[in-house]
Amino acid sequence: MSPARLIDGKLAAAEFRALVKSGVGELVARGHAAPGLAVVLVGDDPASQVYVKNKDKAAHEVGFHVRTLRMAAATPQRELLAVLDELNRDASVHGILVQLPLPRGLDEGAVVAALDPAKDVDGLSARSVAALWMGASGLVPCTPQGCIHLLERVGVKLEGARAVVIGRSQLVGKPLAALLLARHATVTIAHSRTQDLAAVCREADVLVAAVGKPELVRGAWIKPGAAVIDVGINRLADGRLVGDVAFAEALEVAGCITPVPGGVGPMTIAMLLGNTLLSAARRAAVPERELAPWRGEQPAVR
Ligand code: NAP
Repeated sequence: MSPARLIDGKLAAAEFRALVKSGVGELVARGHAAPGLAVVLVGDDPASQVYVKNKDKAAHEVGFHVRTLRMAAATPQRELLAVLDELNRDASVHGILVQLPLPRGLDEGAVVAALDPAKDVDGLSARSVAALWMGASGLVPCTPQGCIHLLERVGVKLEGARAVVIGRSQLVGKPLAALLLARHATVTIAHSRTQDLAAVCREADVLVAAVGKPELVRGAWIKPGAAVIDVGINRLADGRLVGDVAFAEALEVAGCITPVPGGVGPMTIAMLLGNTLLSAARRAAVPERELAPWRGEQPAVR
């Protein structure tokens, strides 16, 4: 069997950012303000600092107004909630992103619940989650949206496909299952208590690993020709970055596969930009599809 086709997330993300940039240009040409994104970083976690810097840079590049608010790790909950309240009320802010995880002592659930769902560009608030499962229009979490975009971009047929998602987090596994289901895949969600995970994976035409365990999924677990999306990002002791899938083994069996790095990762930020543009379009009452052509992909959710 010939090696799997590589799904190039870097290229897909660059193309997507260009679509967002042109949507911003169109919004401004119609006399509206450019989308405003507020990024809130509490504490000094090094990984979060890198993520925030990358988001800030990407948002500037597509023409957003960006406000990055850095707050001390010891910030009391009420102070953080007061900042979010101000951002919720600020009409120039269309998207609010609170970088997670928050330092110990802050209640993430309460912080997410405090966000105006219309500005919740991470799609984590209860209203966004309900909208996703009910097929209402909301903001969809970025990483799962990125996975779907990659699958559709390379022409993987989701309707009728057997899809297995390993991982059931609010951030990735659960919303991705909802998106696959909406596209008429038959979806299994696997997790740490799943019996005989290898056998479950072997059933999958579309296999997504969102676990956080280096190279957990072996080549022998993959159905020949399957589409494999590796969400995991794991730093090994020797400094190498690997996914949740044993890439070299999987390459021999899969039909197509995302690399790590350069697969799902770049799509997450691109989708964050897309969500912020959507939020600005909705506020300006401009039909979404006129600014965001990728919205044409959205199926009617059942
Ligand atoms: P998470 O909240 O820790 O969830 C991990 C999930 O994996 C849980 O549902 C857990 O099951 C399941 N799991 C753990 N060990 C397992 C095992 N041995 N077999 C089967 N399932 C197992 O993680 P997350 O936030 O979803 O992130 C998952 C991975 O994706 C991480 O590596 C993260 O860094 C990466 N990530 C990447 C991006 C990106 O942009 N590329 C974005 C977000 C996350 P239980 O529920 O039973 O505990």
